[in-house]
Parts: sequence; C-alpha cells; structure tokens
Amino acid sequence: MPPAAAHDPLPLARALIRCRSVTPADDGALAVLEAALAPLGFACHRLRFGEVENLFARRDGKGAGPHLCFAGHTDVVPVGDAAAWTADPFGGEVRDGRLYGRGATDMKGGIAAFVAAVQDFLAARRPDAPGSVSLLITGDEEGPAVDGTARVLEWMAANGQIPDMCLVGEPTSRARLGDLVKIGRRGSLNAAVTLHGIQGHAAYPQRADNPVHRLVRVLHGLTAQPLDAGTEWFEPSSLQLTSIDVGNPATNVIPAAARARLNIRFNDRHTGESLTRMLRAALEAEGARFDLEVSVSGEAFLTRPGPFVEALQRAARRATGAEPALDTGGGTSDARFIARHCPVAELGAVGATMHQVDESTPVEELRGLAALYRAVLEEVFA
Ligand SMILES: [Zn+2]
Repeated sequence: MPPAAAHDPLPLARALIRCRSVTPADDGALAVLEAALAPLGFACHRLRFGEVENLFARRDGKGAGPHLCFAGHTDVVPVGDAAAWTADPFGGEVRDGRLYGRGATDMKGGIAAFVAAVQDFLAARRPDAPGSVSLLITGDEEGPAVDGTARVLEWMAANGQIPDMCLVGEPTSRARLGDLVKIGRRGSLNAAVTLHGIQGHAAYPQRADNPVHRLVRVLHGLTAQPLDAGTEWFEPSSLQLTSIDVGNPATNVIPAAARARLNIRFNDRHTGESLTRMLRAALEAEGARFDLEVSVSGEAFLTRPGPFVEALQRAARRATGAEPALDTGGGTSDARFIARHCPVAELGAVGATMHQVDESTPVEELRGLAALYRAVLEEVFA
C-alpha cells in the first residue's frame, strides 16, 4: 500500500458525498469545498452559468512559477436502482474499510484527495514559494456539460487565469492506482440520416423510388471499410449503426422514407467537420433527397508525451509503484474543453464502481490517491 498522506482526505470526501449533487443540483457541495480551500489561501470565485454552480479557486505563491490546475466535478449521476444499494448513496458510510456513496470514485473522492495533497504539499513548503495551484470544479460534467467547464474556461481566458497545464482527476486507473495516465480521448459524433423516396405499391416498383434500398447501400458503403487504421496513440476510429427505422406496417407498400442513426468514435485523424463531409458525400452519391442531422459531442484530442505527462508518470511510479501506461480509450470527458487551452492529462482513482449501484472506494486507496497527487505537486513544482 502507498504511504498514507499526513492530511486525511476521508472527512472531506464524506462531507461532499453527503451533498445530494445530482446534476445540475449543487446542494452545498461547492460551499463544502470552498470552506476547505479558503483557509489554505485560495481565492474562490463562484461562477454560476444558467442553473449550474461552478468554482474556480486559485492560490499564488510569490514570484513567477508554473500554474497547475486540477479539474473535476462535484455533480454525480443519479442513484439508479435505490433499493439495490446496501448503503445510503448520500450517507458517506465507511464499512469494512470502504467508503460508500455516489461520487466516492467519480469524483468527490478525487477532489478530496487533491485537497489533502495540497495541504500536505503546502505544509512542507515555504508559504511564499513560487508557483500557482488552482482548481476548476464544475457542477455539470455528468449532464449536458454546456454551463460547466467550457464556460468556466471562457471566464478564465477573459481573466488571465489559463494554467500552464491541467490535471483532470477522473477515475482513470485500470486495475491498480496509478497504472494509467490518459493523454487523450476519442471524439464522438452522432448522426441521424433520413433518405426520401417515392411511396408506391410493392408490385409496381417502377412507379416508386424505394428509399430502403438506397439507405442499405449507403450504410453498407459506410461500414464496408474501416475509417482508418489507428495511429501511434489511438485505436482505429469506429462507426457503429445504432438504429435503422422504417416503421412500415404494410407488406405491399414501398415506404416514402427510411431512417438510420449512427455513432462514430473517432481519433485525431478526423474532426466532426471532416466526418460530416464524409457522411454528406455518401448520401449525395445516392442522388436522392436526404436529411442529415449531426451532433458532435466532443472532438478528439491528444496531449503528446512531454514534460507534463512525464512528471505525472514519475509521480505515479514514486507514489504507487505502478508503471503508468499512456492511453486514449474510453468515452469523452471535460478534458476535451481544456485541451484547447493547455496540455491536459487525466490521472485518478480506480474507476471499477463508477456510476454503479454501491459506488465505493477502499479508504486506503483514497489516501493513496492523496499521496499520488502530492507527488504530482512535488514533481511539477520541483
Ligand atoms: Zn467523472
């Protein structure tokens, strides 16, 4: 087990879990965090956008030094099947060495671990040592993510608060703490396609124009070839058909329209725009009327290995003994917004129970995460 931090992250993690902050509710979670940060010398800015509460807190040393930002979220996903939980999802119960509750791993535990790490780090340091530490905490990561990190970053840019590097505390570790640093994420695009034809009698196809045949041809063309072969850091992009809908109850009618939906998880060889062009070209090749609706939930991004990623790897090795792999898998995260401003990487708890019934974390691992984040601070401000 990694060495325990001198400051225990457990009390703050429990206090945060006891706030019922299911997106977009805050229920006092950011006030709990502010109360922990203000005595450490952080200037706290509460930023409300729409119905979402956000917090940017920053502590400056004297003189010039790097600015490290820790990004995370206090909102949590809904409880789900409440009857299936063996602990109160908002109770912060510790049982048999595990802390139970919504957000224990994703990611109130991570926030508490970082605050404990900052306490330890500052206690061991001259109070006026150079360098700045900040926290960008949103209440809208698990929801639409419109009035959260993206808006806070706009505010930070307008106020000269963009950091030199950003650590996102999502639960990224795979089997053991510190075994994975996420340096990028795939992008995600959803598309809905409608092909229009001419309705008619199935026995007289020459008088109709069958949109189902056209749709099948288009979809076959889109899925016949892989989108790419992957890159040094990314797996091949993947296009998945998620639905094909005609909704035709008759056996003797050629329908007027046929619809399909698809999802593309794409690497940094593509953008939402380039993929939209590809879809449009495939549809135009059919020569029929069509509608195409596209929504890009996130562009792909990559932070190439460099001094920041290496500092995270050294910290993980030193604090946990694990050999951290570099990875770009999984879904999207708020790091996609941050990547437009500075190098960003993700390093956090083992995410085995995130979003599940009985979400929980071993208390020893929570303390290990605090030790890991302290090592990150030491490496960055060495
Ligand atoms: Zn999360």
